[in-house]
Amino acid sequence: MRIEINNNYCIRCGICEDEFPCLFKRNYDEHCIDVLYDEIPAEYAEQAEQSAKDCAVAAIKIVK
Ligand code: SF4
Repeated sequence: MRIEINNNYCIRCGICEDEFPCLFKRNYDEHCIDVLYDEIPAEYAEQAEQSAKDCAVAAIKIVK
């Protein structure tokens, strides 16, 4: 499982990091959100799925 963020949609609200700091981190230098893993560890799969549901602009895509 991977997480892709569509930077054309992302409004940099930071909610994904606030909710799931195990998966996301604000990147202030590049004005984007970094995903902390290329391949999401199995123990974070549920959080990854939830982050996609919680993103208000549907910028988070889960790729399996
Ligand atoms: S919750 Fe969605 S819009 Fe907000 S920073 Fe994360 S990816 Fe971007």
